Amino acid sequence: MSADLVVLGGTVHTFDQRDRVVTGLAVRSGRVLAVGEVRRHIGPATRVIDLGGRTVLPGINDSHLHAAWMGARWPHTLLEDNEFVEPEVTDVDSAQEAILRAGDVCAALGITSYTEPGLGPGETGCFSQTVLEQYAWLAARRLLRARVTVLRLFGRLDGPSTLPDFARGLLTPPPRADPSWLAVNGVKIFADGIPPMRTAWTHHCYPDGSKGALLVQGVDEADRAANLRMMVELAHLAGVQVGVHATGERSVEAVLEVLADRPGGRHYIVHGDLVTPDQLRRMAAAGIGLTAQPVIAAAMTGAVAEALGPEVAARAWPLAEAFDSGLPLTLSSDAPVVTPDWRVHLASAAERLGSKGVDPDLVRRLLRCWTTAAAYQDGAEDWKGSLVPGKVADFCVLAADPLTLPAADLPSVAVLATFVGGRQVFGAEVA
Ligand SMILES: [Zn+2]
Repeated sequence: MSADLVVLGGTVHTFDQRDRVVTGLAVRSGRVLAVGEVRRHIGPATRVIDLGGRTVLPGINDSHLHAAWMGARWPHTLLEDNEFVEPEVTDVDSAQEAILRAGDVCAALGITSYTEPGLGPGETGCFSQTVLEQYAWLAARRLLRARVTVLRLFGRLDGPSTLPDFARGLLTPPPRADPSWLAVNGVKIFADGIPPMRTAWTHHCYPDGSKGALLVQGVDEADRAANLRMMVELAHLAGVQVGVHATGERSVEAVLEVLADRPGGRHYIVHGDLVTPDQLRRMAAAGIGLTAQPVIAAAMTGAVAEALGPEVAARAWPLAEAFDSGLPLTLSSDAPVVTPDWRVHLASAAERLGSKGVDPDLVRRLLRCWTTAAAYQDGAEDWKGSLVPGKVADFCVLAADPLTLPAADLPSVAVLATFVGGRQVFGAEVA
């Protein structure tokens, strides 16, 4: 059968179950037709790309990227900016422009999927219902340049929420869309704040003697915790995936209490700054995932030490323990808090894990956090995340093979081209 596109003459990391590395890839109707020796799929109308020894990876999936916010701020990120100026996203045109600009940024980085973590009726600007509606409008017209998973938000971003608002929100139908481009079947809950702001809910003590609190509203601490557990329970029963922003170990514990004996649902903790090794093991047993941000961890360790002391800071963001626990782990940027460049994040994760020199097993393991594991978090591992016949042809072409380099060198490896569903969304003609 002849292909629409044949890519050959390079190193193609399939990230299939056997970690097969092949030299070529054939694409037909947006899906992978074959991998390996693919010349037989070249027909008169086939576009052929000779990689000239360059490398193909499955498309990168950033499982925590505030894309509309990033598009509105671009090229600025929060932690790099000297002054904090919030962009205006007040109408349909500006929301659409922000999403499309984010799509361009993603395409240039090889990102073919992302999770937009928190859009909904309680928010304004870059996190508003208007943004969600614009995603649906763009998806219906096939104008999105990356596949998008949305967590709906029925409270404020980094702010309060109430059980009645949450319950009401769960009952409102999400916008209709082709789920391979726009999947809206999850919710975001903000359990607490962050340790540097002294708002993570923890057993440790801030300098003023406080221990943080839940953002979920209630008459007292026990009521807040009960309301958080009820939110998680309601979503779970509704078959809706939950991503809980939880940085303090007490917030993690509240989620664990609900889900410990309720498997399925692919629920996950976002950030998990102070999660303990014991909690990681219990999360693994319950199938609860974690999406962590290595660059933020590196940038914030000093601030956590100031807030909670050096010992707590030294144990924060236990990435090695997260890997060892076997829980579903994804790594993500949280852009535009920091750069959306996954190459920088991967290098930072490798450094955190003490990696030096060339370490292909580690780099492959880390890359899986941005590909196959992220697809699993999306509930989409049967159709994306690896380059296997039948799955969507989402991939990027890199100037060099990351598995042959020290992870620290990865940020200097150029992304040459990006394809989503077999369609090139970035890069000039790859000769
Ligand atoms: Zn975030």
